[in-house]
Order: sequence, then C-alpha cells, then structure tokens
Amino acid sequence: MNTQALTPILDKIKAYDHIILFRHRRPDGDCLGASKGLQRILRLSFPGKVIDLPESDTSDYLAFLGPDDPALPDEAYQNALGIVVDTGDAERISNPKYALCRELIKIDHHPDRDAYADLSWVEEHSASCCEMIAAFYTHFQHELRMDQEAAALLYTGIVTDSGRFRYPEVNGDTLRYAAALLDAGVDTQRLFAQLYLRDAASLRFQAYVYEHLQLTENGVAYLHIDAQTQQRFGLSFEDASAAIGYLDSIRGCLCWLAFIDAPDNTIRVRLRSRFVAINTLAERHHGGGHAFASGATVYSKDEIQSLIAEADALVRDYKAEHSDWL
Ligand code: AMP
Repeated sequence: MNTQALTPILDKIKAYDHIILFRHRRPDGDCLGASKGLQRILRLSFPGKVIDLPESDTSDYLAFLGPDDPALPDEAYQNALGIVVDTGDAERISNPKYALCRELIKIDHHPDRDAYADLSWVEEHSASCCEMIAAFYTHFQHELRMDQEAAALLYTGIVTDSGRFRYPEVNGDTLRYAAALLDAGVDTQRLFAQLYLRDAASLRFQAYVYEHLQLTENGVAYLHIDAQTQQRFGLSFEDASAAIGYLDSIRGCLCWLAFIDAPDNTIRVRLRSRFVAINTLAERHHGGGHAFASGATVYSKDEIQSLIAEADALVRDYKAEHSDWL
C-alpha cells in the first residue's frame, strides 16, 4: 500500500470541523462498510468534529448495518471536507452535493480513471475499500480509535468484496487486517447469518436460475431475469441481481453474466469472470469496474446479444492462448 498518501489525508481530517462522507449509488457491503466504518472511527477519534453521512440510496439486504444520516442543507457542504469512499468515477457518487464541499478526498480501490478529488488514495489491487480503511486505522492506531461496531462494519466489507476471502486480490494483508478486526470482537456467527441466510423463496429462485441458465459455445454462462420473472418469484431488484452469484462455479465457464430488468426500464448487467479480464467489455456498455467483477447497463435485447457475443469472443481468445484454465 502507498502509505505516503495517508498522512496528508489525516492532516486534512484534522484541519476540518465538519466532514461529510460519500459513496457510490446502489451501495454494496464494501461501500456501506467503508463509509459507516470510517464515520464510526472518525466520530470515536474526534468527538469534537461533526461527521455526517447524508444518504438516501441504501440497500435493503444490508439494512442491519444501520441507518444513514438525514439530508443536509447546501450551505452545510461549503465549509466541509468531503471524503468519497469506494467510488471510481464522480458520476457514480450517489449524493451529488459532493461538488459543494470545500475540499474532496477520494479513497478507493477501483481503477483510477477519474481524478475528481483534491487528494486521492487509490489502491487498485486492494480486495476492498474496507481493507484500505482498516489499513488507515492501523497506520495511525496511536491517534485513532476503533470499537466493535467499527470493526464489524469494516469486516463486513472485507468479507463481501473478497467473496469470503476467495477472490484473487486477497493477499496476506487482507487476512492480517481481517485478523485485527476479529480481535476487536466481531460477532461472526451473527454477521454471517445476517449476510447469508436465505428464505425458501430465494432458494426456489436459485433453482430457477440453474434450470434456465444459458451457455455459449466458448464458455459464457448467462441469464436474463426479466421483469416478468421478478414478479413471478416476488423478487426485489436486489434479490434478482443476486443471481450473478449462482452462476459462478461452472467448470469451463470463464465468464458469467446476469441481465436484470431495472425499475427504470434499463437492463442492469453484472459481469464476473475467472482468468479473463472483463472490465473493458463493461466499459463499452456504459459501465466499468474491476478486472474480474464489473457492472454495466444495456438498453435492449439486441444489446444483450451483442454483449454476450463480445464476452464469448473474449473467452474464446483466452482459451485459444492458454491451456491451464478451469
Ligand atoms: P456489480 O455487479 O454492480 O456489483 O459491480 C461490480 C463492480 O463493478 C463493483 O465494484 C462496482 O463498483 C463496479 N461497477 C458497477 N457498475 C459500474 C459502472 N456503471 N461504472 C463503473 N463501475 C461499475
């Protein structure tokens, strides 16, 4: 990690009485854990400062992480330091008032394509943004405070964004930071129950996914979960989006895609892969993300077909050049 970036960030935090935290739209466990975990650490460490997280965009299945703060008037932003976590591009920041802040810091682990902040700390190869917040805390642990609540928030992000410590970005540091958080007293039995218990209807939907998934010639698994199917199973948009996770363990399928009809009549695409990088494919379809986990948006069934064909060509080319894939 680039620890040189850390001191200027702490100096800025110390210089402001009011700090406002930001994150990306459609927040996931890492994004929520990093924003709430950092808020908790800063509140504990600097009781004289006001640390706000004014968000309206949240995630039902992660509601157990607790509520955010109410909206703030525009004037409140003008003297504040903004810290944006887990968000590569300014256009994905869910609260557009970030632009009103006096200064802005970016703490992120996505490819650094948009230098929207005055000060940036980006670790593209970090498995999660929560790992970065844990590293920030560890670096200054003589000055900062952590408690069980903060540790549980950060641990949540590390666990969810690393696929329970399975993804290739996981390294020794990931486990060392996770170990330190566990030492702070995370109740993992409760946390894993909150994250992963399923109701019967959701398991029935998973069975539907296995029955209906499609495979391309070269090894792309995909499924379109249209509005009708979502209605039939009584799925929320988030429940339907979880289908991507069910497609991940098919031998020979190096890429898997879920197309989910969104409430705004667009089609959300979730792209995942093994060995083959798919983020440039996502970028060609109004999206982006990490090498092996990206998101995109398409607008028609034709565009679904062309994205599948592009993914299939990527896998075909990869398989033509490599023999050790699984
Ligand atoms: P998702 O499938 O939505 O969980 O996205 C997987 C990864 O890609 C996450 O790290 C997202 O932050 C990122 N991502 C999703 N959608 C976009 C987008 N439109 N632009 C850039 N990155 C994205």
